[in-house]
Amino acid sequence: MTTTPGPHAVPQVAMSSTSTLVTRTGSWKYQMPAYHDRVAPCNARCPVGIDIEGYMNLLREGRVDEARDLLLTENPLPAVTGRVCHHPCENACNRHALDGAVAIHAVERMLGDLAHQRPAPVVRGTPRAERVAVVGSGPAGLACGYHLARLGYGVTIFESADAAGGMLRLGIPEYRLRRDVLDRDIARVAAHGVEIKCGVRVGTDIAWSELTKSFNAVCISTGAHTSRALGVPGEDLAGVRPGLAFLREVNSGKRPALGQRVLVVGGGNTAMDCARSAMRLGAKVTVAYRRTREQMPAIKEEIEDAMREGAEFVFLANPLSFNETNGRVSAMVCERMALGEPDASGRRRPVPTGEQFTLEADTVLTAIGESSALQNFFPDVEGSDSGLRVDALGGTTRDLLYASGDVTDLERTVADALGAGKRAAIGIDRHLRHHHGDTAELNALRFAEGNLSAARWSGRDPIRRTAPLNTVVKPDDLNFTQFRRVERHADPHLPSDLAAQGFDEVNAGLSAADAMDEAQRCLNCGVCTECDVCLIFCPDAAITHAEGGAYVVAMDYCKGCGICAAECPRGAITMTQDRP
Ligand SMILES: Cc1cc2nc3c(=O)[nH]c(=O)nc-3n(C[C@H](O)[C@H](O)[C@H](O)COP(=O)(O)OP(=O)(O)OC[C@H]3O[C@@H](n4cnc5c(N)ncnc54)[C@H](O)[C@@H]3O)c2cc1C
Ligand code: SF4
Ligand code: SF4
Repeated sequence: MTTTPGPHAVPQVAMSSTSTLVTRTGSWKYQMPAYHDRVAPCNARCPVGIDIEGYMNLLREGRVDEARDLLLTENPLPAVTGRVCHHPCENACNRHALDGAVAIHAVERMLGDLAHQRPAPVVRGTPRAERVAVVGSGPAGLACGYHLARLGYGVTIFESADAAGGMLRLGIPEYRLRRDVLDRDIARVAAHGVEIKCGVRVGTDIAWSELTKSFNAVCISTGAHTSRALGVPGEDLAGVRPGLAFLREVNSGKRPALGQRVLVVGGGNTAMDCARSAMRLGAKVTVAYRRTREQMPAIKEEIEDAMREGAEFVFLANPLSFNETNGRVSAMVCERMALGEPDASGRRRPVPTGEQFTLEADTVLTAIGESSALQNFFPDVEGSDSGLRVDALGGTTRDLLYASGDVTDLERTVADALGAGKRAAIGIDRHLRHHHGDTAELNALRFAEGNLSAARWSGRDPIRRTAPLNTVVKPDDLNFTQFRRVERHADPHLPSDLAAQGFDEVNAGLSAADAMDEAQRCLNCGVCTECDVCLIFCPDAAITHAEGGAYVVAMDYCKGCGICAAECPRGAITMTQDRP
């Protein structure tokens, strides 16, 4: 066949006049394709260990209830995390390289809210005789209790406060996490048969030794509730107070008088919540932080919201002392800092410049971090200033005593606490069932380097994967030419002037329809969705549908060219020299 030369001319091509079955090119190959599902980076990065790719895939197929159930297998509080998680999953999302990460938190929130309207069936394992005590009902304790109940154990959670939830109730304000939403997520844990005894402080109302005698295992999930002191002169003046105590008061419905000018010291979530709550009480707020905006540990959206709502920020400001007028704070004296070499956290260390300045204030809220009251615990349990030391399954240095969440020396976020509570539940189950041994086999329960999967531990993983131990899929492994660019859905927010007037929820969340659309943006990284691209592109027509799904490659005809692997949109085909 010939064509007229030109920019759009079809080049000469060879065509078979019969069938490609005549040409048995299989003997040419030195490599062959293998379908190996790999790990999506979002799954690997979620501290809870949620199979995000798995539920996105179910949503793509319209199997909404199954998506909800898969999410609930790993996460007891999805309506909570959909609202307040710092979503590291999205930072890792491969879609960044195309047109912006999938708004995973928004899809999770939609499924979490859906689970309130259309509850999932309660899952209980075969009932077991052993009983477990969990101390503390924050996300770590709730996750530990929930997963243990689903494994068949009787669980009692002891909580010193009047209601369950830990920092979700005591720390995080209602404009970020509505209490009816929190209550409904906690009710799911209770519906699994977990007994939650509020108003009981272990160590005061009931002895720790009593728990270890009466229960087969104990998990400490008491959090970190002691505000760190600045350690500067004047900190004990009236008007200078720990930000966490202020938040607890506001979150219990009180409205403390603060005066006109409020100074918040710190750059984390507690500082942002203090600033935004104080503005809602009518104060003009300034946040003083000793490093720069880029180094603030608070969630990015929280910082943006605080700025939008009118908080002012003074960076590189380190408190030196407080001035008083009539026995009450009137100003904070600061030293201007500069950024020096990186410290252990990798952030550049603030170094003093010698320059001083003052910031006037009627109230100062300090929020430079929280620690746990370790002295209340067992003397034989190892720990450091950062918290109790635990192994990969939450085990402390005492047999059958576990710990999870902020009380340990691990990351302090809601998602990390949920993941740690799950690990402790698996650790307790493993111990009580006498499944000791090295932890190597636990790697089979992870998404690559991610957290443990309760679905895999319980043997109830509904997802068919061809290689659960595979590597994480990077953007370079994907074929972006197969995907259309589609803009990410932005969270709808209350207008800032309205938001700052009250405690109504600021982020209204995506509508169910928009969240379903957003789920369609997921590329299903590393996992074959049977999209047929490989089958269409194979020049030898060597790929066909296998019975019961997936594909089969006719090795007599596959010449090992690798076109299928290169064209696969998701990086689910690997060229290998091993026979599959
Ligand atoms: C103001 C604020 C805002 C935050 N915002 C975010 C956010 O937006 N996103 C995020 O990911 N993380 C956020 N965090 C961090 C997050 O809340 C914590 O990491 C998480 O709650 C830790 O969970 P936990 O279960 O370990 O402890 P907690 O949530 O602290 O729960 C511990 C529970 O144990 C109870 N307890 C303590 N001692 C005893 C005892 N002796 N007997 C019985 N009960 C006891 C406490 O009353 C409490 O209810 C925030 C923290 C604060 C303070
Ligand atoms: S819990 Fe957090 S990290 Fe995990 S999927 Fe949800 S938003 Fe992402
Ligand atoms: S595109 Fe989907 S599977 Fe891939 S990283 Fe993002 S959310 Fe995960």
